[in-house]
Amino acid sequence: MVIHPKIRGFICTNAHPVGCAAHVQQQIDFIQQQPKIEAAPQRVLVIGCSTGYGLATRIATAFGAGAKTIGVCFEKEPTEKRTGTAGWYNTAAFHDAAKATGLYAKSFNGDAFSNEMKAEVIEQIKADFGQVDLVVYSLASPKRKDPNSDQVYSSTLKPVGQAYTTKTYDTDRDEVKEISLEPANDDEIAQTIKVMGGEDWELWLDALNQAGVLAPNCKTTAYTYIGKELTWPIYGHATIGKAKEDLDRAAAAMRARYTNLNLEAYVSSLKALVTQASSAIPVMPLYISLIYGVMKEEGTHEGCIEQIYRLLTEGLYAANPKLDEAGRLRMDGKETNDATQAKIKALWDQVNQDNFHQLADYEGYHSDFLKLFGFGIAGVDYDADVDPVVSWS
Ligand code: NAD
Repeated sequence: MVIHPKIRGFICTNAHPVGCAAHVQQQIDFIQQQPKIEAAPQRVLVIGCSTGYGLATRIATAFGAGAKTIGVCFEKEPTEKRTGTAGWYNTAAFHDAAKATGLYAKSFNGDAFSNEMKAEVIEQIKADFGQVDLVVYSLASPKRKDPNSDQVYSSTLKPVGQAYTTKTYDTDRDEVKEISLEPANDDEIAQTIKVMGGEDWELWLDALNQAGVLAPNCKTTAYTYIGKELTWPIYGHATIGKAKEDLDRAAAAMRARYTNLNLEAYVSSLKALVTQASSAIPVMPLYISLIYGVMKEEGTHEGCIEQIYRLLTEGLYAANPKLDEAGRLRMDGKETNDATQAKIKALWDQVNQDNFHQLADYEGYHSDFLKLFGFGIAGVDYDADVDPVVSWS
């Protein structure tokens, strides 16, 4: 099959196996060029391991610290007629690279919110390495089926309190336009917290603890985006921000609950980047295109893998990590500092249909977007016939 990108709105509906493998390899190469991660975890569970920040975490701990990794993801397997999802191919590529280096890797494809998935993963931990030292929670999902009631909850991306009108960039139509978002009602807020809040993170830790597979001094982290004034109305102070506040509650609860293990639980705040999850959020493609331009000019631009390497070395496994007032690890300072935000705000106020491509780094945004699906990567022959069916074991 010859595979070219099929883009529909904010998503690409296919993926390139060779390109995804090259994208994974680029991240492995970056990690292998960095100093080894000292004091690093050796047995790591990554929930949401196949794309974006979770994949970067898996790569960084495995190739930067020699960790054995178990990953959980929710991806579509390829068939002869249809490509798999990018996360499927990324996982296969990660397994191949791990095997070639003699690194243990095991992945589970299915619903991380379910009791069955938690039980399967625990059995694997017991069988293969007894306990885990680090549990990373990096899920981004629009829906969650409550494992006990079977009720399905949906998350919403809406402001809270009042309607909000702002600029956005329609990637389909190449158009900068106004967007008005009605405020969420209480049920929408509650459902978003159910899906993207801390409840499932806590359920994972509870299940792991009950099974006795959390190692003493184990660490856990979940990822958040905090942002600043420009994104607060649609993110930080919006439905998704309410869910992210619930992660702070969960982290504090877990710190108190597992003192016997000396468990460290952190919410880690990361910078805005193009991922499958963020490209679906209104306003984000415009905001990210603008920050890419500003941060590349400042020399402070980072991708997922750079952010996660710093999180591990300057945050989670640093001797005295800096925490914010809520006890979070902050890797987003290069984006959220006042000087950088002032530059972005000035561009934000000016940007319109006519000057968008001059003021914003949409080229950089779009190229990163394509890379998420294995497209646009130097050295990959996109006219070659490739077998879409790839598996991992
Ligand atoms: P992503 O879409 O790239 O990754 C999501 C992962 O979750 C994938 O591995 C996917 O397979 C997995 N997943 C989704 N539903 C699942 C399910 N039901 N069962 C098992 N696996 C499932 O997203 P991302 O942007 O890397 O986001 C990861 C975390 O980082 C999120 O909490 C997000 O809020 C946070 N974050 C993202 C950004 C950003 O700009 N992208 C910034 C800061 C924080």
